[in-house]
Amino acid sequence: NKYLDVLIIGAGPIGIACALECEKRDWNYVVIEKGALTNSLFNYPLNMTFFSTSEKLEIDDIPFISNNPKPTRNEALEYYRRVTTSNKLNINLYEEVAAIKKVENYFEVKTSKGHYKAKKVIIATGFYDIPNLLNVSGEDLPKVFHYYKEAHPFTLQDIAVVGASNSAVDAALEIYRKGGSVTIIVRGDSIGERVKYWVRPDILNRIKEGSIKAYFNSEIKKIEESHIIVETPEGEITLPNDYVIALTGYQPNFEFLKAAGIEFSKDERHIPNYNDESMESNVEGLYLAGVICGGMETHKWFIENSRIHAKIIAKHMEKTLP
Ligand code: FAD
Repeated sequence: NKYLDVLIIGAGPIGIACALECEKRDWNYVVIEKGALTNSLFNYPLNMTFFSTSEKLEIDDIPFISNNPKPTRNEALEYYRRVTTSNKLNINLYEEVAAIKKVENYFEVKTSKGHYKAKKVIIATGFYDIPNLLNVSGEDLPKVFHYYKEAHPFTLQDIAVVGASNSAVDAALEIYRKGGSVTIIVRGDSIGERVKYWVRPDILNRIKEGSIKAYFNSEIKKIEESHIIVETPEGEITLPNDYVIALTGYQPNFEFLKAAGIEFSKDERHIPNYNDESMESNVEGLYLAGVICGGMETHKWFIENSRIHAKIIAKHMEKTLP
């Protein structure tokens, strides 16, 4: 039973940025992270390149030096790792927060390894743990993935990539180049607006020349061992299939936030209730930081524009913490 000034949940880039602010102010804090350090980035595709330039991923103006205009996953892991170790940040890994309960003017936080008491809590848990499902029969087969790591296992195989965002487009192109036969299945009528501007012509041209097949305005209806059934504007078709890679986005853990007392906008965006001048939620002393703030609008916040949350929160906490 430790009494903390601040307990931070999640050691993503933004949780780390919050820890730096606490460290500077000599507050008694801990970051609780259920996985590895920067667990979301760790789980990104191995050859992933950020859409941001490295200086826009920097926290607290600590230089992020990259050899490329846009850093890779490996470079980002190196950066956040060094920021953490050089500043001796206080982070507990492989410990999951189960519940946050407000008691009088402090919080009781229950984790997979113990209990904590803290005056303030910052939730920086991101949205990468819960994939948006297709909700079709066969989705539970072991040939269906909602995360993509690398292309090698898919060489010489029939692959369906579902989605048209950066993740789906990157996966489709990489698998095609490693000798997989790729079909992309897109619910909308085009490749996503936010696809990296230097990748977009590549995917459009591969589709145009037919080296990657694409079905727009289409959805998978059923997944079987050896094939999939796709609803297209021309009717239902059956495609031979070895693996389905469904990259249709992810969503924050709303149940977790709700159980902590956080309220949401009543529309389908499900935006958590917080004051954008302090990042304090409707629960006094409970703050939100990073991409979690967007609710279902998971494109609204990213590292570039949410790293500022750490300083806003620390400034606000200064009023009540010594
Ligand atoms: P996260 O990095 O997701 O960190 C949240 C952490 O909380 C995780 O480590 C998670 O394990 C932990 N956690 C969750 N629940 C619990 C719990 N109950 N207990 C303990 N720990 C918990 N952004 C950019 O600015 N530029 C880019 O180029 C860019 N490229 C991207 C590419 C991809 C493929 C994806 C998916 C995202 C990209 N983003 C980019 C978005 C960016 O990765 C996220 O904005 C960033 O990871 C968000 O940081 P965060 O700290 O808010 O959340």
